[in-house]
Amino acid sequence: MANEDSPSHVRIYPQCGACGFAFTPGDRIVALVGKYDSTFDAAYDAFTFPDSAYCTQSHRYPFSFCRFPSCDRCASAAESATAHKDCLLLFLRASKAQDQRLATPALLEMLWTAAIWRKPWPAAPRLGLAPDVDVSRGMRFAAKACGQLKIAGLAELSWMIYQRSQQSSLWRYTSSLDLALLLLESKQDEVSSVPIDKIHAWRRGYPATMKDYADKPSYYSADKPIIRLTVDSQGLQCIERLGGGFIESSTPRSDSTAYVVEPAEYFSDVHFAIPQPLLTRLRVPAKGFYIWDTPYPPPLQQCLVDSAYKPPSSRLTTIQTRTCTGITFFISSTGSLLGIHAHTSNQPSAQETFESLPRRQQNAVMWVYVPIWDEITAFGISEPRSKADRASVVSQTCVLVRLKLGGDVFVGPYHYKQPQRFLLTEQPLALIYEKPEIIPVSFIGIHSACHKAKQISLALPFHGSPPFEKAYFSSAPLEDVSSIRIFNEMEAQACRGIVIQYVNGSQRALGQCRVGIDRDQIVMRPRRLCLASFALGRSYTGDQLYGTKVESSTTLHHKHDRTDWACNELRGVLRFWFKNQQTKLELYERT
Ligand SMILES: [Zn+2]
Ligand SMILES: [Zn+2]
Ligand SMILES: [Zn+2]
Repeated sequence: MANEDSPSHVRIYPQCGACGFAFTPGDRIVALVGKYDSTFDAAYDAFTFPDSAYCTQSHRYPFSFCRFPSCDRCASAAESATAHKDCLLLFLRASKAQDQRLATPALLEMLWTAAIWRKPWPAAPRLGLAPDVDVSRGMRFAAKACGQLKIAGLAELSWMIYQRSQQSSLWRYTSSLDLALLLLESKQDEVSSVPIDKIHAWRRGYPATMKDYADKPSYYSADKPIIRLTVDSQGLQCIERLGGGFIESSTPRSDSTAYVVEPAEYFSDVHFAIPQPLLTRLRVPAKGFYIWDTPYPPPLQQCLVDSAYKPPSSRLTTIQTRTCTGITFFISSTGSLLGIHAHTSNQPSAQETFESLPRRQQNAVMWVYVPIWDEITAFGISEPRSKADRASVVSQTCVLVRLKLGGDVFVGPYHYKQPQRFLLTEQPLALIYEKPEIIPVSFIGIHSACHKAKQISLALPFHGSPPFEKAYFSSAPLEDVSSIRIFNEMEAQACRGIVIQYVNGSQRALGQCRVGIDRDQIVMRPRRLCLASFALGRSYTGDQLYGTKVESSTTLHHKHDRTDWACNELRGVLRFWFKNQQTKLELYERT
């Protein structure tokens, strides 16, 4: 039972404190709850992981489970963690198998400590880092269970199996077991804390190299040393002190590690637990630090498009504009930017980013793909309408991507009554953004070679109202086309999106192109584009909804089964209106 110290809110986190994997809605979960004196209280059945911010409250506990973003009551509560119920049971069983003297309450406290220490400091933002699973150990379990011992020795095959079965409970169990063994190995009674000024370097599993920098103020001013912290799924992994501002790294960016890179002087109040801990974390001032997905982040001050707004300490993700082949923006039907995926050779499909969205958002999200086959010369973000807009969640963010050959690409709801105003940054090198859990992207910045943003008004492509309410708009010229790639929705065979490639090598995308997901058909050197509108059904307000079938081919002579096709040669401009399943395609002569 909880005592007086029990918090009024108990946070339900999106990742398991035992195995490190993200929960899927419906998973059975347990809350490990601490007290305000930083000791462990108890484990509580937290029922199933919810698909939204609303948690099950049908219990008699003296607190509420909570997932609401930026919740003050969660922030002021004692620390808690969340675990899969079966991971917790496996952790207890595996630990007791190693040492029978260990009692359940002591083991639960060990698990709670390890789970909350996955954050590098208590108020650190959620990092969502993928766990580093011992794949060969997992394969040995699986091989032993099914009597196929030879399989376990094939490293490449093991890795392929892991890549294709990451949702399997085998990997969750392997990861939970790894944690149990690590904790038993690192069990230590005496842990003391020292200022980070006394640490020269440290890596998990090794003793810290000590050197006292605290009484050397001239060192700071002369060389401006930098401290870089590396964090992985298990928490703080490495501390480095880099002299002379030299922070270059061969690691471009990572989904499994995160980094804090700040001048050493910012760490004067930061304390670190010794001796040679396998798991540890820092005590940092309330302000915290920015956490990046790259060990070599751009200077934040140079990324602020709107210099009046600097985001609070948070997790920032980077997209290198010169190495990605496209960007998919996930936009809600109300115009909020729910996610961003950078297409690269390692991550050609946006499916993983899509799956990281809550299921309710997945059902109504639009995929707006911007192929980048030539150079981005400028990147624009719609100007915040008010201070309140800027300080709160970025709502209805519109994005302008200016391509050297492809021209201006507009992403966002179409405002036909007035020109859209943008803050445009030229020569962009990287896009940086913050995506908190559940809520939309809350900050976008641009790192550029020129460090300056200018205001522009984007002229409307034409005057007139959209064909249906809150429609999204895309358009592309149909001259000098070298290929047309049509993305069809599987069941209705309705066209969801089109990518047009031009003779000069540039590309334009229209509608929703779910690259790597939807069935697509490419027509090289197309001569015609045929469109047929058809009824999709009715909206909940009774309005008739329409979809569109699209065909293209290399010859002008052709026949259709039905008579309602509009056949067009390739000239003029194609306008593609879309919202969820609805589409309307129109061809216009160039004005
Ligand atoms: Zn788990
Ligand atoms: Zn709360
Ligand atoms: Zn036709």
